[in-house]
Amino acid sequence: MSAKEKYLVLKNVSTHNLKNVEAKILLGGLNVVCGVSGSGKTSLIRHTLYPLLARALGQEVDDEEMSDDQGTLGPADAVKNLSSVHFVSQEGIGRSTRSTIATYLGFYDDIRKILATTPAAKANDLTPGFFSFNVPGGRCETCKGLGYVVEDLSFLGEMPVTCSSCRGMQFTDEALSITYRGKNLHDILQLTIEEAREFFYEHTKLARALDQIIGMGLGYVRLGQNTSSFSGGEAQRLKLLRLLLDAVDRKPCCLIFDEPSTGLSDKDVQQLLLQLLRLRDAGHTVIVVEHHLGLIASADWLLEVGPEAASAGGTLVFQGPPADIKKAKDSRTAPYLLSS
Ligand SMILES: [Zn+2]
Repeated sequence: MSAKEKYLVLKNVSTHNLKNVEAKILLGGLNVVCGVSGSGKTSLIRHTLYPLLARALGQEVDDEEMSDDQGTLGPADAVKNLSSVHFVSQEGIGRSTRSTIATYLGFYDDIRKILATTPAAKANDLTPGFFSFNVPGGRCETCKGLGYVVEDLSFLGEMPVTCSSCRGMQFTDEALSITYRGKNLHDILQLTIEEAREFFYEHTKLARALDQIIGMGLGYVRLGQNTSSFSGGEAQRLKLLRLLLDAVDRKPCCLIFDEPSTGLSDKDVQQLLLQLLRLRDAGHTVIVVEHHLGLIASADWLLEVGPEAASAGGTLVFQGPPADIKKAKDSRTAPYLLSS
């Protein structure tokens, strides 16, 4: 390794089953933390590095498992290379009924602008704001643009029922009269990401964002689909996409992912890896807790916690470039990595 490389160093870590661990994280690198289930990798990253780094950077962390005797993080001149730390979990995205993939990732704004520049919209002085879900204008005011209302159906309890004012169309007739390439806003929100990519091919910025979503294996999602319906794996990939779409230009930060390959095909894992490398190439420090061999082999800096689970684990059996793992006698990953 060159003298220019900088590391965050965790020392004397004794969180949960960890046994006085000392571990290094490569700044500006793709760090992968592996180890058998229950070996202590989550304790090391989620419950030690994350809260210690957040505290050092003056961020609030809500981690009731955090204690004061769980180790130290340094050196200060390495920490100051980072502006913030983000833990990208598999927990679902907010329960907002109005949150869709289009609003969550921000490209709904582009779609509103496209509609507002059609001749019919211009003739009626309709602005992008007119097509918003959040403010009155083109949305149906009975259902506030949801297309349904919640009614108390006595013995069934509260149930969503198609809005009778807009017949589930979400918008007023005036808004729905505005079309782009033959589709109104309601039609557009029914498109899948893949269909939308074709439909909006002339709009470079929007098409690029849609390409990234397809690249993450989410091309089947409908633009208007509520984000609260996504699985944990889908939610995590959406969060990664949002980071990619707006964090690439941000100051270097530390991004932590907990098993992001969960539920992905090998092809989608390749795409995930490309996106993680893009974040790294933009100067961010990426840390991934993973068991997928493809991701492990692609690390700039690999850490293995183990060798086994619980009290038979809790030590660092290896840290270094993946190619050096053959030197680690207690590694459970090395035999798989070297034979693949
Ligand atoms: Zn309505």
